[in-house]
Formats: sequence, structure tokens, C-alpha cells
Amino acid sequence: MLICSSLDEVKRRETALRFIAALVNQEGRSCLYDLSGLAGGFPVKKSDLNLLETYSGPAIFELNLQKEGKKHLAGEKVAAFNRTSAAILAAILALVKPGEEVLHYLPELPSHPSIPRSAKLRGASYREFDNLPDFQLSDETALVIITGSTMDHQVLPLNDFKRIIKISHQQQIPVLVDDASGARIRTVIYNQPRALDMGADLVVTSTDKLMNGPRAGLMAGKATLINRIKDKAHQFGLEAQPPIVAGIVRALEDFNPQRLLDSLDRRDKLNIMARNVMDGVEKTPTGIMISAKNLEKEITSKEGTTTLSARELATLMAMILLKEHHIVTIPAVGMPGVSATIRLDLAALDAGRVDDNQIINALKDSLKRVREIVNDDEACLSLLYEGI
Ligand SMILES: *Cc1c(COP(=O)(O)O)cnc(C)c1O
Repeated sequence: MLICSSLDEVKRRETALRFIAALVNQEGRSCLYDLSGLAGGFPVKKSDLNLLETYSGPAIFELNLQKEGKKHLAGEKVAAFNRTSAAILAAILALVKPGEEVLHYLPELPSHPSIPRSAKLRGASYREFDNLPDFQLSDETALVIITGSTMDHQVLPLNDFKRIIKISHQQQIPVLVDDASGARIRTVIYNQPRALDMGADLVVTSTDKLMNGPRAGLMAGKATLINRIKDKAHQFGLEAQPPIVAGIVRALEDFNPQRLLDSLDRRDKLNIMARNVMDGVEKTPTGIMISAKNLEKEITSKEGTTTLSARELATLMAMILLKEHHIVTIPAVGMPGVSATIRLDLAALDAGRVDDNQIINALKDSLKRVREIVNDDEACLSLLYEGI
């Protein structure tokens, strides 16, 4: 086994970041193509920087956060957190007591680890479903969470959405929608309503997913609930600090849904080209992806069995894309437990600087390289954990 624990994943991530640092220091940022769709932009203006030094800045950023946040997500009140995971933790701490239950519905398993982990930390029980007939509240259910769009950008059908909100509200249970990417994918690409417009009580989104903002969580919803969640957030240091709030506000102001729509034509073209390289390529709402399972199928169909897991194969391929082709994808740089799907996001800012042939050559070459090294432990370990 190459990746045995989350500690190994921390090591893999540090290797990837060290490589990126060395490359950017030597050759400049323009040699790197971040197609993760999570670039974490920080589009503040000069005038914002002066305000960071005064007490008035945070007051003004907060005012604009309310204005821009409500425009994006609707709701009575908005709050910003260090991460979407932090917002989810604060919500579970505030709304669920030990011994109660968090019920989670999502279009397709696996769920984002922040939800089960937060429930566990709270001493709450946790159940998750991706199949509507199985979804049933219990006497202990205190919070229902719906994931609007999964880490792999699987989107929940509108009818399921409405049905779960209805079932939960019949029992007076609040509904939080984890719309980390969904607040844009669902609305802009699938023309679905915003979560709060469908009757959810709370929604949270990531301001670096399909928009050019800092990695942070933006939550909106009923003021009474937001107040309780903010209170918990302050107790545990989960709230976003003023500089991040300034970045969130500017990213919301700059957000342009047209850029997402423009990526669709290019995606269709690239998808056809990529399927010639490998059968298992699939479309995403704004790009293409290779799931770890499909990569495993591709490799075992030609090479026979391998002792490596699907996750290990995908991580190897992502590290080759990074080290050889300077293309950043999530399995290389993501946190422990992150999805092992290799996703190339054409709505990413850097996608404008890399052409389709360059992407296809990178896919071809990295697939070939994975095949060459699957049975060479030393080469695999060095790829994952060594090098500048
Ligand atoms: C990305 C994501 C999160 C967590 O966002 P972080 O910024 O990593 O905290 C939670 N849920 C879903 C569905 C996500 O896609």
C-alpha cells in the first residue's frame, strides 16, 4: 500500500505544494495551470487595503457582505466562516445536541467528510442516504442536511430537493443545504432555484468554488438560526476574519455567471477528444473528469490486476499531471479524505491559458506513465512523497 493513512495524505499534499512553490519561484505563476476549480482568488482593491488598518474596515466589509451575500444566496442574514467545513461544524454545534441525530441526503455517496466528522465531534448520531425511499426522519433527528451538488458535481434533482424539505418541515426540523459548489452549478447551469427560495432554512457555499474568491464559507438563512450559529462560531474561532470578508465581498461583486456558461461548449469538445484517450472520461457541469474507479478499470483492463487501490492510481496520475505538466488537480493538492476524482475544470481562471491539445497530451502522457510505474513501488513512492 502506498497511501495508508491521512498522515500519508498530508505528506503527499506537502510534496505537491513544495513542487508548486519551487516551480512558481523559478518560472513564475504563469507556468502553472490550476484547473482544480478551487483556485482561491483574492480580488480585493487597493482601497480595501487601507481599510484593513482601521476599525472602520470590518464594519464596512460586514455591511457589504450582507448586501452581496443576500443577492447571491437570498435569506434574512449572512455570515462568513473560515471554510465551508467550519460553517457546517458551527451549524451542527449550534443546532444539534449530543445524542440527537444529523440526517444527510445527497445525490450520490460519498458525502463530504466535514458533515459526519462534525456530527461525531458533537456526539450526535449520523445517517446518510442517496436514495429517496430510504430517507426517514427519526425521533432524534435535529437537523437535516441536503447536499445540493456533491464534491464530484452530481446535482440533486429538483423534485428530491423539494420532497426532503417538505418531509423535514412537516416535523419542524430545520434544513441546511450544503451548496458548496451547488449555489452556482445548480442555479447557473441547471436552472434550479436558490436553496433558500425553495424553502431551506440555511444554505452554505464555498466562495472559491466556481467563483474567484478566497477559500471560505458563506452562510445565509433565517436570522434567528444564523445568530445562534455565529455565536458558536465566535466561541471556537470558526468565523472569517476581516481580510477574508473583504475578499469574499469583492468576489461576490465580480461573480459573472456567463463565464460558467461559456465553458460548456469547450467542455463538449474536450470531452470528445479525451474519450479517445480513455473510455472512462466523463463530463462534469463545467469540465471533464476521470473517477478513480474508471481509471482503475482502464488500467486493469490492459495491465491485468494491480495491488494499488483506485485512490492510489488516481493520486499517482494527479501527481504526474502536476510534476510533468504543471496541471493542478484536487487529488494532488487536496486535504486528506478529499475526492480522488481527477477533475479538469474549464471555468477555472487558468483554463484560459491552456489549450485543449495541451490538456489532451498531458492526459495521454500521464496515463502512460501510471501504466509504466504501477508495479514499481519505489517510483510510486518517490512520485508521491519526494522531490522538490
Ligand atoms: C468543498 C465542499 C465542502 C467543504 O469546503 P471546504 O472549503 O473544504 O471547507 C463541503 N461540502 C461539499 C459538498 C463540498 O464540495
